[in-house]
Amino acid sequence: MTTFISAGHNPKGIKIDPGAIGNGYHEADLAVEFRNLVVVELLKRKVKVITDNDDERLGDYLKRIQTGSGSVVLEFHFDAAESPTATGATALIGNDADRLDNAFAKELVEITSSVLGIKNRGVLSEKDSHRGSLGLMREQGMVSLLELCFISNPDDLKKYQANKKALAVKIAGIVERYENLM
Ligand SMILES: [Zn+2]
Repeated sequence: MTTFISAGHNPKGIKIDPGAIGNGYHEADLAVEFRNLVVVELLKRKVKVITDNDDERLGDYLKRIQTGSGSVVLEFHFDAAESPTATGATALIGNDADRLDNAFAKELVEITSSVLGIKNRGVLSEKDSHRGSLGLMREQGMVSLLELCFISNPDDLKKYQANKKALAVKIAGIVERYENLM
């Protein structure tokens, strides 16, 4: 089985998509950095990983990857809001999510909230999010999109920067466990 780890948005390429911008950061850059931290941990654990490329549009990545029912599919994003005090971690799952997708997403958002010391905003299905339909959710396996914290909140970012490595280790542990389920 293979795990698929991607970074929301793309910082390079013909059509750059920086994602949200806040406090001097581009979401795409933060997501790539965190993806790489998690991938290093997964490789230490001998988990087979496929990632998106930094210049690759999400649609092209989704076309390229071949997921199956036992795959773990995870993408990292950062949330943004008008209010600089909006805070917390959120996990998103598909409208067709099953028990495993739910359990996987719940563990991801709980560990993110506890390691970073920010609010747990819970698990949302794509229809309850403001993001509409998410292409990622059409992939097979255990699929989640994790919004690590708010890029628009300086305190969230400070906590994220201080704890991102510890969080990457914990998330790799969760991914490995779900990867070994099937
Ligand atoms: Zn995003």
